[in-house]
Amino acid sequence: MRELVDKLQAERRLEKQEWIRLIRNEDSSLDEYIFEKARAEREFYYGNRVYIRGLIEFTNYCKNDCYYCGIRRSNKKLERYRLTESQILDCCDIGYELGFRTFVLQGGEDAGYTDEKIVHLVRSMKALYPDCAVTLSIGEKKKESYEAFFEAGADRYLLRHETANTNHYRKLHPEELTLENRIQCLMNLKEIGFQTGCGFMVGSPYQTVDTLAEDMMFIQNFQPHMVGIGPFIPHHQTPFADMEGGSVALTLRLLGLLRIMIPNLLLPATTALGTLHPRGREKGMAAGANVVMPNLSPIDVREKYLLYDNKICTGDEAAESLQHLKQTMKEAGYEVVTSRGDFIHK
Ligand code: SAM
Repeated sequence: MRELVDKLQAERRLEKQEWIRLIRNEDSSLDEYIFEKARAEREFYYGNRVYIRGLIEFTNYCKNDCYYCGIRRSNKKLERYRLTESQILDCCDIGYELGFRTFVLQGGEDAGYTDEKIVHLVRSMKALYPDCAVTLSIGEKKKESYEAFFEAGADRYLLRHETANTNHYRKLHPEELTLENRIQCLMNLKEIGFQTGCGFMVGSPYQTVDTLAEDMMFIQNFQPHMVGIGPFIPHHQTPFADMEGGSVALTLRLLGLLRIMIPNLLLPATTALGTLHPRGREKGMAAGANVVMPNLSPIDVREKYLLYDNKICTGDEAAESLQHLKQTMKEAGYEVVTSRGDFIHK
């Protein structure tokens, strides 16, 4: 099996059957082999640096009804909130002082935040913090909207493809959402010039080794700048409440394989990984990740942005959790840096 890892490193791509064999293999000594190579690849581009992104979860209103997500529109038990521009800028202010040079605006697909409001917000952020990158993660929009956001100064866009298999996509989303449109959005984003991120949940309901292999094939063809993967964690107020969650071990293996496939990738050790394992983020780094996204949202809204049950960091002040992160990363041999942390081209 090691020869497949070597082939991936040499050619940066594999055939579908090869991905299946690698993903299916249960030998944990293979993981060590993968992680060692992944760390060496990351070292070449990014050294031991951990890039931090200040995550601002600015609205939990959402017009979509994804079966897995705690902020889906059918969750009537959820108290909805929407931060104002000035509340968001306050978060940036705190974040900037702490050393964040990227802010990630993430939210549901909220009609209350029109394109004009997003454009205004991005312009304000770029005017106040010209040395910072702004990442948007606000779902599927028209190409013209993406162009307007880019024009306003947004640098990056995260839009997980969720799964590259049409049948699987159907099982995770209601009719009105299509994989075709999701992929079209990703292509538009990349074409416009965004540093673009796709990704998926590991262990989402109805996922198979086969669909995972298709995800890896999609990513090797699409060549994104960022990939966000984290374990699926059920949320008790969704149709998938009783489904099994994803595994830390498989998430780590896939992180390692992604790093070997695209060595200069911006690859976060996600909050979901940190939620399932107390040292999940450090483990993610050891598997090849190089980005962590601490929460800068005001504490009183964090418990309302629960995409899944038991999401971490709901109570810590930004400063406190950053201090903790710096310490744990230092102990693991990594350095949290004050930098935009852009994608490094080959
Ligand atoms: N609305 C935007 C979008 O669709 O891209 C951004 C917000 S959305 C909540 C961010 C990501 O959360 C999704 O792409 C999904 O992969 C992840 N997510 C949602 N529910 C989850 C769950 N139960 N477990 C793990 N991740 C989840």
